[in-house]
Amino acid sequence: MKTVVALGGEGIGIEVVEATCELLTAAGFPLKILTPPHGESSQRTHGSPLPDETKRLCGEADGVLFGAAGSPASSAVVSYLRWQQDAYAGVRPVKYYRGAASPLANPDGIDFIVLRENSEGLYPGREGDLAELRRVMPDLSDRTGRRVADYGEGRFAVKLVTRKGAERIARFACELTRKRKARGHAGKLTCVTKSNVLRLSDGLFREIVEGVVKSYPELTYEHFHVDDAARRVLRFPQSMDVVLCMNLYGDVLSDLAAEAAGGLGMAPSGCFGDRWAYFESVHGSAPDIAGRSIANPTATILSSVMMLWHMGLDAEARRLEAAVARVYADSKHLTRDQGGTATTRELSRAVLDALR
Ligand code: NAD
Repeated sequence: MKTVVALGGEGIGIEVVEATCELLTAAGFPLKILTPPHGESSQRTHGSPLPDETKRLCGEADGVLFGAAGSPASSAVVSYLRWQQDAYAGVRPVKYYRGAASPLANPDGIDFIVLRENSEGLYPGREGDLAELRRVMPDLSDRTGRRVADYGEGRFAVKLVTRKGAERIARFACELTRKRKARGHAGKLTCVTKSNVLRLSDGLFREIVEGVVKSYPELTYEHFHVDDAARRVLRFPQSMDVVLCMNLYGDVLSDLAAEAAGGLGMAPSGCFGDRWAYFESVHGSAPDIAGRSIANPTATILSSVMMLWHMGLDAEARRLEAAVARVYADSKHLTRDQGGTATTRELSRAVLDALR
């Protein structure tokens, strides 16, 4: 029996996590699912968006499944799960299931990973007033010679790239690409930066990735600047295997890639650190559709498939993913974002029926 902590977060996060947990339980998988207090309601009842007891349960669980953040209280949960726990590798599979609503004419065979560096770059946000920056670095200038002091009133954000951060994600990327190659994928790592403009910061990231990839001669390697990469993800999605992106680029490209494969409602993810992992959909709390029972639970169900793999429940993971694929191929119980009329629960129950 494995223990799972399920945290819905906010908005549709709550709805899709509940539907997924109901499915996992009804499927008879060997899971004990705990739903400790967190988020806004916990702020009210326990005076904290993430009480120590909830943190303890997360730390002891075999798997943690999160829904979505929106308000500061639920963002504090993500902040803990992702940044405080140093889950630096955001693995975002992009896979087309026949029957999904891809806007592409030929989405068959789309099956790649956007790997997002989660811990550095421009996130989680180091910002300030330009006046402060002027005080400490008055001579900081861009490549045209324009100094910080020459700008008027405004704000700044710091982009940060460390050797350690770039090296660990590069190694993670190479190992992931190698594992996928063993399962029949191309064994190709694509690195995405903007090193032609951000020569020092993105340049360092690229240089380190290229150094690490040299010790993996069995892999193919390519690099694209982020603007070109966006175009390629859309035009040649079937040629992608593992696409390693710096933080912000990964945030943007993974939504674009998800859309190519059928939309945000189907995009799962897992965030990994050296000794920690948690799983969540790529989408947010979707306030525009929250509370209407029309959210697509597939992204969270597929995130739970990743969690099952992570916990060593391989047979259950394989069966659940195959059931999702059958529901899409059948196309009778799809939610509105997929062109259907099913509710959140109708789709998750169709997956349960397909499992049986
Ligand atoms: P969003 O992902 O919540 O929604 C974007 C669009 O996609 C909306 O039109 C929404 O209705 C649709 N959509 C998303 N998930 C869907 C699903 N499962 N089924 C059907 N349609 C779906 O992004 P947003 O609107 O930019 O952000 C809303 C809030 O979520 C913001 O507060 C943002 O900060 C937060 N957010 C959180 C996370 C996270 O928790 N990891 C990720 C992204 C955004």
